[in-house]
Amino acid sequence: MKIIMLGAPGAGKGTQAKKIAKKYEIPHISTGDIFRANIKGGTELGMKAKSYMDQGQLVPDDVTIGMLLDRISEADCEKGYVLDGFPRTIPQAESLTAALKERGEKMDYAVDVDVPDESIVTRMGGRRACLKCGATYHVVFNPPKAEGVCDSCQEALVLRDDDKPETVQKRLTIYHDQTQPLIEYYKEQGILVTVDGTKELNEVFKDIVAVLGA
Ligand code: ADP
Ligand code: AMP
Repeated sequence: MKIIMLGAPGAGKGTQAKKIAKKYEIPHISTGDIFRANIKGGTELGMKAKSYMDQGQLVPDDVTIGMLLDRISEADCEKGYVLDGFPRTIPQAESLTAALKERGEKMDYAVDVDVPDESIVTRMGGRRACLKCGATYHVVFNPPKAEGVCDSCQEALVLRDDDKPETVQKRLTIYHDQTQPLIEYYKEQGILVTVDGTKELNEVFKDIVAVLGA
């Protein structure tokens, strides 16, 4: 099963993608996580991505598309995957469609996690991230067992630089401008599913499973 998660930054794409990956035993591929791991590791790709990410801007398509297409060609992707944070622009979506078509494949579902902008700011301000394993928490809605410490790997949790309020507003504007048109793109492909992302996170997951199948 090949799934795309759509939605504003902070809508809950990563939270739901991790649950989907676990239940359906497919890899969770987050372009944001890949960039952050590269920044942490000091690679050339990380250095390219960092200045854009810190400013809340999108990393250019020529960097992002190749990286994602390489990732989905790896052996663990044979059974499918859940994409989180890709595509974010129409050219990214078109490149993905074309690359899959060449292999005689297509995406199965694009799940839009729908959350209004007002809730996004609260979510991002309370998000805490583990930069080691990619786990995310929320100080109120999804707290870790011990405050400030990752449940899975015991690393200290951080507020991402791009989750600071001034950057969140910029990311939302870019989302509406460049990413929201993808909802129409996947509607036209007949694979769009919309879920109400304002519900409690386990309820959102139930709604997604109701569509994907048990
Ligand atoms: P995205 O991957 O779309 O940027 P995340 O999955 O990281 O978003 O979620 C953003 C923040 O909101 C996190 O702190 C997460 O714990 C919290 N969150 C996710 N889903 C819900 C929900 N349904 N209700 C409340 N908070 C949520
Ligand atoms: P995320 O972890 O999905 O919130 O992504 C964090 C940041 O990484 C974004 O604000 C962008 O700067 C960058 N990024 C992640 N995925 C993409 C993408 N598909 N296209 C461009 N930039 C991306």
